[in-house]
Amino acid sequence: MDLNAVEDIIPVRDRAALARAHTGAAGTAVLAGGTWLFSCEQPHLRVLVDLTAMGWEPWTVSARGLRLAATCPVAELAAVPARPGWAAHPLLRWCVRALLASSAVRSVATVGGNLCTALPAGAVTSLAVALDGAVELWGPDGSTRHLPVEELVVGDGRTALRPGEVVRALDLPERALRGRTASRRTCLQRLGRSASLVTARADEDGAFTLAVTAATSRPVVLRWPAAPPAGRAVRDVRAAVQEGPGWFSDVHGDPDWRCAVTLRSVAEVVEELDRPGGAS
Ligand SMILES: Cc1cc2nc3c(=O)[nH]c(=O)nc-3n(C[C@H](O)[C@H](O)[C@H](O)COP(=O)(O)OP(=O)(O)OC[C@H]3O[C@@H](n4cnc5c(N)ncnc54)[C@H](O)[C@@H]3O)c2cc1C
Repeated sequence: MDLNAVEDIIPVRDRAALARAHTGAAGTAVLAGGTWLFSCEQPHLRVLVDLTAMGWEPWTVSARGLRLAATCPVAELAAVPARPGWAAHPLLRWCVRALLASSAVRSVATVGGNLCTALPAGAVTSLAVALDGAVELWGPDGSTRHLPVEELVVGDGRTALRPGEVVRALDLPERALRGRTASRRTCLQRLGRSASLVTARADEDGAFTLAVTAATSRPVVLRWPAAPPAGRAVRDVRAAVQEGPGWFSDVHGDPDWRCAVTLRSVAEVVEELDRPGGAS
C-alpha cells in the first residue's frame, strides 16, 4: 500500500551515511524488503532509511560459520551451498518454505526484516534460534554489540533493539551448523501461516538444543548436555512455556491446540534424532 505520510526515502551506502540518517529519530524507520512496512498503514512514519543500498554481500562463509547480511533476501537462503560437515544445512531451505508467502515476497523479504518484524511465525527467527544464531547490531552512536536471537525477539512484534539500532548481520556458528537437526511445522490450513515450529539439534559432542517458535509469542529454547528422553523433553518444554510466554493465540490457532501439536512435535523430533542415522 502507499505510505502517504512518508516524505523522504534515504538510501544509505555506508555506516557514516547510516549515522547521518538518524535512524532513532521520531517518524523514521529502517526500510529493508518493505514487505511488512508496505503491508499496513504507517501514519507515524515520515522518513524511511533504505538499507538495501548498503551493498552487503548476502552471505559469507568463514571458519566461524555462516554470516547472513541483514539485507539477504530470505529466498537466497536456499541458494547457500552445503559445506562438508554442515549436517544442519537442510534447515536453510526449510526456513524459506516456512515463510508462508509467494516467491515474489520471499525474494525481497530480508533476513533482518524478518527478525525485526518479530512475528511469532518468523521463519528466520526459527532458523536462528535452532542454530544458536546471534545478531550484530549497529547503534546510531557508532557502537556495535552482539545479541543471541532468542534475546532479540522478546514478544509478538517486539524486539530488544535500542532506539535507532540496526541489525547488520545474523551469524550462525560452525559448531551448530555441524549438528544433526530435525524439524516440524504445523499450520491450521495446508497453506496457512505457521502455528507451531519446532526444531531440535544434536551437536557432535552430544549437546542437545530444542527450540519452539510460532506457538509462543517469543522463542522458547531449551538445552541439555545430552539428548533427553522424549517424555522429559515434553515435560520440560511444557513447563518452560507455562512459566514463560504461555501458548500463543491468534487466528492461526488456539492455545490448547498449539500446545497439543507442539508437544507432539517435540516428542517426534527427539525420537527422530535418537534413531541411528536419523534426521538431516
Ligand atoms: C503475503 C505475506 C506473507 C507473510 N508471511 C510471513 C510469515 O509466514 N512469517 C513471517 O514472519 N512474516 C511474514 N510476513 C511478514 C514480512 O513479510 C516478513 O516478516 C519479512 O521477512 C519482513 O522482511 P522485510 O525485509 O520485507 O522487512 P521490512 O518490511 O522492510 O521491515 C520490517 C520491520 O523491520 C524493520 N527492519 C528491517 N530491517 C531492519 C534492520 N536490518 N535493522 C533494524 N530494523 C529493521 C523495519 O523498520 C520494519 O519495522 C508476510 C508478509 C506478506 C506480505
